[in-house]
Amino acid sequence: MARDSSKISKPPAWYADGIDHVWLPYAQMKTVSPPLPVVGTQGARIKLADGRELIDGIASWWTASHGYNHPHIREAIERQLKQMPHVMFGGLAHEQALTLARRLAAILPGDLARVFFSESGSVAVEVALKMAIQYWINRGVPGRTRFVSFRGGYHGDTAGAMAVGDPHIEMHGALLDALPSHPVVALPRAKKEEHALDRVLHRYADHLAGIVVEPLVQGAGGMLFHPADVLRRLRALADRFDLLLIFDEIFTGFGRTGTMFACAQAGIAPDIITLSKALTGGTLPLAAAVATRRVFDAFWSDDPKKALMHGPTFMANALACAAANASLDLFEREPRLAQVAAISSALREGLAPCRGMPDVKDVRVKGAIGVVEMNRIADLSALRARFVEDGVFVRPLGNVIYLTPAFTISADELKTLTDAVVKLARGLND
Ligand code: PLP
Repeated sequence: MARDSSKISKPPAWYADGIDHVWLPYAQMKTVSPPLPVVGTQGARIKLADGRELIDGIASWWTASHGYNHPHIREAIERQLKQMPHVMFGGLAHEQALTLARRLAAILPGDLARVFFSESGSVAVEVALKMAIQYWINRGVPGRTRFVSFRGGYHGDTAGAMAVGDPHIEMHGALLDALPSHPVVALPRAKKEEHALDRVLHRYADHLAGIVVEPLVQGAGGMLFHPADVLRRLRALADRFDLLLIFDEIFTGFGRTGTMFACAQAGIAPDIITLSKALTGGTLPLAAAVATRRVFDAFWSDDPKKALMHGPTFMANALACAAANASLDLFEREPRLAQVAAISSALREGLAPCRGMPDVKDVRVKGAIGVVEMNRIADLSALRARFVEDGVFVRPLGNVIYLTPAFTISADELKTLTDAVVKLARGLND
């Protein structure tokens, strides 16, 4: 780690004693800037050990949609903690998991109604891919083990999930040779790309299990947006080529794009959907791969070999399911989607001054996602540090500065965030 931990003024003892024993995410440990010591969170704010408070523009990797420490979620977790934090899901079932499965089935589009729980988004994607491959095996169709996936796509960091991500996303480049290869194509935004995709589908038809896509917004790949038409095209192509359509709504699910699920904006449903991140309102790890009856029915048999052989140890953790149920209560009781619409307008207005700045390539907003794409960010960690100096926590991805705040953020806090982005985008590389 960069030996400039002196920048962290007087770190607490737990920090000084422990920091050299952790391996940080997505980091070259030799050069990474030391992480900021955090002692608390509240609403849209992160409290640092030295007493500073940062307004959070990221909502902890897009999870904390109701703000941090929402009392309703906290109380649900506390109640569940007293009763039963966890019990294995093999041979045992509990109220929170079954209630959550029923509620997810009720709000998901189409007949996505069989919920397979896991503990992280990447694992939910692995489960979805496994379901799709075995769907074909169970139906007696051999060789359908590949997926069409898309440039700009990101689906997680486990092997199968990496393999369906865009290989050009820097994160996983070095590992490409170790992964199964899948056709990766441009999203069919226009006729030309639709024809190219059509050709790929014809060419690989006998080897394909399905199509995997992040609907409406490709997040980690650079906050890239595409119109709902693209999803309708994918649905039509999946039907024509008899492929399973998998929507990875791990980022877009639970209101982030303006509707509860992004696919609602296209008026279509996938055959399998993956969920995580905001599922527990950013409090505890939980994920799900949810299948339609058609997919589930391919596993329904007297033959044990046709079972889905998967079962994470902490599957359907009771605390996490209680948190997710409480999060769904909040979506029902509080005007979250109206808040997303208001954030959308404020982001549009607040980021508008970035348009036309010399280093700015694009400014775009979708739901509660605001993006200022730069032509280049010469020194990413310096930029991150300057945001902190301005009292906000914003972590650009590559050349993309983005805001994905809690839906409960106040208008003033949001303005502080957009003002900081406008200020730092101006003359960024001077
Ligand atoms: N899928 C998408 C669309 C994501 O954005 C992410 C994480 O950013 C994942 C999958 C992986 O989720 P996790 O980090 O929980 O494994």
